[in-house]
Amino acid sequence: MLKKILIANRGEIALRIIRACRELGIETVAVYSEADEQSLHVQLADGAICIGPAPASESYLRAERIIAAAEIADVDGIHPGYGFLAEDPDFAEQCEECRIKFIGPKSGSIRMMGDKAVARETVRAVGVPTVPGSPGVLADPNEAIKVAESIGFPVIIKAVAGGGGRGMRLAHNSMSFHREFAAASNEAAKAFGNGAVYVEKYIEEPRHIEIQVLCDEHGNRIHLCERDCSVQRRHQKVIEEAPSPFVTPELRKAMGEAALKAAAACDYWNAGTVEFLVDKDRNFYFIEMNTRVQVEHPVTEEITGIDIIKEQLRIAAGEPLGITQDDVKILRHAVEVRVCAEDPARNFAPCPGEITLYYPPGGHGVRLDSHVYGGYIVPPYYDSMIAKVITFGRTRELALDRMHRALSEYLIRGIKTNISFARAIVRDPVFAAGEATTKFVEDFLARTPRDLLARTNEELDQSTENT
Ligand code: ADP
Repeated sequence: MLKKILIANRGEIALRIIRACRELGIETVAVYSEADEQSLHVQLADGAICIGPAPASESYLRAERIIAAAEIADVDGIHPGYGFLAEDPDFAEQCEECRIKFIGPKSGSIRMMGDKAVARETVRAVGVPTVPGSPGVLADPNEAIKVAESIGFPVIIKAVAGGGGRGMRLAHNSMSFHREFAAASNEAAKAFGNGAVYVEKYIEEPRHIEIQVLCDEHGNRIHLCERDCSVQRRHQKVIEEAPSPFVTPELRKAMGEAALKAAAACDYWNAGTVEFLVDKDRNFYFIEMNTRVQVEHPVTEEITGIDIIKEQLRIAAGEPLGITQDDVKILRHAVEVRVCAEDPARNFAPCPGEITLYYPPGGHGVRLDSHVYGGYIVPPYYDSMIAKVITFGRTRELALDRMHRALSEYLIRGIKTNISFARAIVRDPVFAAGEATTKFVEDFLARTPRDLLARTNEELDQSTENT
């Protein structure tokens, strides 16, 4: 087993990794920026090294500083978490060259799947269905429009380097195509330093359903079933659940097999996620593979009882998988809400600041993955997610009732959050019926008064008492 690792991340995922290491007897070293000195991951790790000023570009994204910290601390491995350097093939390669185990796939797999156009072609070649689209990158807008016309509008123009919903534009007809093509390319050039784009058919009202895979370094590969992440705002996930209310046992089997084919095609090892869109007729299409642990991994852990972070550590230590496909069972239903420091009344603008009062939810069937506490100051420099509330139960209905109860007892004062927004979604009849597609949030917001979403738990409880 690994003896000591460095965690190249912050926030809840850094804590999550520290916790798994503690249980396995692995020593941990945290890295932190000047803004994170008071962070829980710094307090809880066995050691901590400051790697620079607050902006991520001067700290958490500085590969050379992280490698230097790893060498000083003399660790065996680096866990990248998600975001920051987790999907940077150059960083993984530097780790390989320095003989520090990168706790994730090899750099070659990250590089292959990191280019979405290459990823599509790679999985298509082994028989995984992809969304109809251009065979590769389209450099010339006039050539691109011909491809779009042959696919049929509407089409989506996507950056090969895209992520987090950026560098993606919808074109409804050839009139708007040129404008959207330029916009997608410019946005991608700015955000990712790579403006290359390709074109895909726009699937109408699909569900976003993804398969968690675990692969060891000896060629054993299993999947841990699906997560449904259709509840998205601007292509960013808000609520995730497992199993998907839309997936039948036959579809689960077919998608699981396709995901394992995709993993084999890039010689994948460690934990990964193969993302698909599923249309109303249950046809599924590969969109991308995330070569790291995902924010929403806890719902899979709660339905299967498998600790994904511990599996990542065991795989990185060279151990063969201790679980077979037949061992993977869906034991219950789980839901996750991403709690963010943002103001729903101001178009979900980030809302950093000091948490003046904090009372977290708990009780039967509730898991809270969070790094915040009363008195914590949410810094403005990083992602606005401050907690993940995960609830679970024997049935979907029970998991959702628990989520509503957990969110209603979650008190956070001093900053605005999306808790009331999430509470309203959990009680929405379309979501509750398991009928949400990726268009759900847009429709929901159009029919819900904004002031309702910005209310605090206390205000919401008073208004329900009064009615
Ligand atoms: P990112 O890497 O930026 O997250 P993805 O390719 O994973 O981008 O897509 C994010 C989301 O965008 C999907 O979950 C889905 O809601 C929407 N989307 C992507 N491709 C399509 C498509 N071809 N048709 C319809 N919606 C799409």
